[in-house]
Amino acid sequence: MDSLQTTSTIAAISTPVGEGGIGIVRVSGPDALAAAERVFRARSSKSIASQRSHTVRFGCIVDGDDEVDQALCTVFRAPHSYTGDDTVELSTHGGPAPLRRTLSLLLRAGARLAGPGEFTQRAFLNGRLDLSQAEAVIDSIRARSDAGLKVAVRQLEGALSARVEAARAMLLAVVAEVEASTDFPDEAPEPEPGDLIPRVAAVLAELERLLATAESGRVYREGLSCVIVGRPNVGKSSILNALLRDNRAIVTAVPGTTRDVLEETAILGGVPVRLVDTAGLRETEDVVERIGVERAQAAMSGADILLCVLDAAQALTREDELILEGAKGRPALVVLNKSDLRPFLFAMDVEVRLPGAKVLKGSAVKDGGMADVENALTAMVTAGLVSPADVTVSHVRHRRSLEVASESLRAVLKTLTEGWPLDLAAQDLQTAIHQLGEISGQTVSDRVIQEIFSRFCVGK
Ligand code: GDP
Repeated sequence: MDSLQTTSTIAAISTPVGEGGIGIVRVSGPDALAAAERVFRARSSKSIASQRSHTVRFGCIVDGDDEVDQALCTVFRAPHSYTGDDTVELSTHGGPAPLRRTLSLLLRAGARLAGPGEFTQRAFLNGRLDLSQAEAVIDSIRARSDAGLKVAVRQLEGALSARVEAARAMLLAVVAEVEASTDFPDEAPEPEPGDLIPRVAAVLAELERLLATAESGRVYREGLSCVIVGRPNVGKSSILNALLRDNRAIVTAVPGTTRDVLEETAILGGVPVRLVDTAGLRETEDVVERIGVERAQAAMSGADILLCVLDAAQALTREDELILEGAKGRPALVVLNKSDLRPFLFAMDVEVRLPGAKVLKGSAVKDGGMADVENALTAMVTAGLVSPADVTVSHVRHRRSLEVASESLRAVLKTLTEGWPLDLAAQDLQTAIHQLGEISGQTVSDRVIQEIFSRFCVGK
């Protein structure tokens, strides 16, 4: 990991830039204490060099003789800091001016601006966190639901690392015996397949147990998408708003949201569900309409769940029938909306066109008129999920490694049971060990590490 250096002293604003009660500028590295010394003056006039680890002092940020802002200075000495290096956190008032000024003073005092995720990357390079734990840091920041947070924090606390490491250690012991006998056949006895098979099978079973929670983990972490389709004026936007009323996610900004497709996130059964309203696609001119329909179809084809909305007070139109046609074979919920009005359309009318579909009456304007729809949608979202407390794997990257490792161990078992030469088994064992090392970061390339940390924000 030569290209990932850890010798410089880095600084960044670690709280969001905006107005807040306090804001924190963090500086970490071999010269962190010296840099902070030039920027902070304690009320007691005592130096940072004399300040004990994990203590806080009150004072002010200074630019020469100029007092910039009142501040608290917290010192964390190596190796007992987040990054593992000497670290100082300066808490000023939480406005852009004090934070930027403090940062620029630290940069002038010799620190350099930290890159995205560089504090956490240091923590990883210094062995404070393994790679899966570092990834959990960003997951906990980005978690949109309590369930997502629980999954992230379990991973941060090492629930995945511990099990992957134990599995890897067992395989390392097996491969050591196998390779000793193939490399030095005169000195090391050839291990008995009867002894190796149960050990490899036990590791395989453990990896399969981990994989069993991966799909639930993905859903809690990434969420699902639910596309609301229906012709104009059937009530799609009203339904979206009704579903959001009690379930809006804390953070709804999703990068990449296009303006003509309205997207909001609701938390249903602990799962972030991106509700996509295709109403914005509606246009009058023919050409535009065609593009709109194509986009709606593209949105539909990528959806995990379709919410097909019909107007219960009107007869089915050709457009309604096309929508039901498009939902064939997909996980879909059909809502007969406006059921507060005199009914014209019944569940049976839909069921003959879309056999097996779940059809519910709803009203987006009546109090509680969406309760059944919300319950049914929640049931669809959470079907087959295990509780977040039981989830150990949530990243696609980890899942892929576990799958390749499992595949390799199946090949090892085949080699051993069929009595093929042991060096074949050694190769597959090495593949499995390498894949497990990718999860914790022991055998991962610099490129992958950089890719992972580039997704962090600056200051983390
Ligand atoms: P969209 O074009 O499918 O998004 O439809 P809107 O949500 O904009 O609704 C179209 C019109 O239908 C609006 O005037 C709504 O107030 C009305 N509407 C929506 N849902 C209901 C409902 O359940 N009952 C009644 N009576 N009116 C509704």
